Amino acid sequence: MATGWITDERYLWHDTRSAAGFLPAGGPVEPEPHVESPATKRRFRNLLEVSGLLAELVQIAPRPATEPEVLRCHTPEYVERIRTLSGDNGGEAGELTPFGPGSYEIALLAAGGVITAIDAVLDGTVGNAYALVRPPGHHAEPDLGRGFCIFANAAIAAAHAREARGLDRVAVVDWDVHHGNGTQKIFYDDPAVLTISSHQDNYYPADSGHVHEIGTGAGEGYSLNIPLPPGSGVGAYVAAYERVVVPALRAFRPDLILVASGLDANAMDPLARMMMHSGGYRDLTRLLMDVAGEVCEGRLVVEHEGGYSSAYVPFCGLAVVEQLSGRPSSVEDPFLPIFEALGGQGLQPHQEAAKGDPNSVHGRQSIQG
Ligand code: ZN
Repeated sequence: MATGWITDERYLWHDTRSAAGFLPAGGPVEPEPHVESPATKRRFRNLLEVSGLLAELVQIAPRPATEPEVLRCHTPEYVERIRTLSGDNGGEAGELTPFGPGSYEIALLAAGGVITAIDAVLDGTVGNAYALVRPPGHHAEPDLGRGFCIFANAAIAAAHAREARGLDRVAVVDWDVHHGNGTQKIFYDDPAVLTISSHQDNYYPADSGHVHEIGTGAGEGYSLNIPLPPGSGVGAYVAAYERVVVPALRAFRPDLILVASGLDANAMDPLARMMMHSGGYRDLTRLLMDVAGEVCEGRLVVEHEGGYSSAYVPFCGLAVVEQLSGRPSSVEDPFLPIFEALGGQGLQPHQEAAKGDPNSVHGRQSIQG
């Protein structure tokens, strides 16, 4: 069945202000474009067009999330604060999350874009879908914007799938290089939503995403964290997904798998120290498609999160969409031979040891039990 593609020009008009890297400009910080800029996403979409693949996808316009939909995951005070600041001249959503005028509406459209993708898959319009949304969402907490994220797009969409569409269980698999702290926090006590995050160990947010964070109360065992050592390449990622993520999904048997697709674990990313490449993302996508085929009739929605190398994100994104659609395009990743040859791409002994942490096994056994 066809693959859906959801994006909108307005996503690229979200203004993250001038900065150097991720720090706001000012004082000794000379202004440049913020690292969370439109460039990576625009170039991803452009490469899809040039490759010929875009024309073969089912392009679906996103709708904005409604305020009640957002309030399933955020406090009324936080939503009101963002709306007021956005209607004025913009502001700061909390921590490292600057935004300009009009970003409230754009953030609603980002959360709604993931809802649109889920509805298209649940309605059978498409078999799976990629939602290229912005701003990202997985760091946003109920009352706090963090890490460039205003509203928790994936969580809002997962809550929609549960509460409006009646699904019993939803899994969110987050392969962004940073911890999916917001998604985890929103569902930390909820056994109906399994959150799985693979990320660079103890990076952002600091002291977050440890293996011992497994959920609380009725949700104990339904949060799973896989912190990977800096320098992890395709071997470590594929092993983590084959040995931990896929068995956890098999045990949980979700009705839908939602992927928080940050493409910032790639070997060129300025904000991370990992070595993934387009072939690695293709492998992870295939693993999740296979398990989705086993447990939920292939229902898989991939929604965009981070990724800051404007040169390389497009090729990683193209690989994911090629795999989702089963349609290899005419474009070959020109960086791939270079990144495949990097030392340490295979699974290293210290990476294997990291995944053997008994707390991680405990987390998985809790899911199974
Ligand atoms: Zn990230």
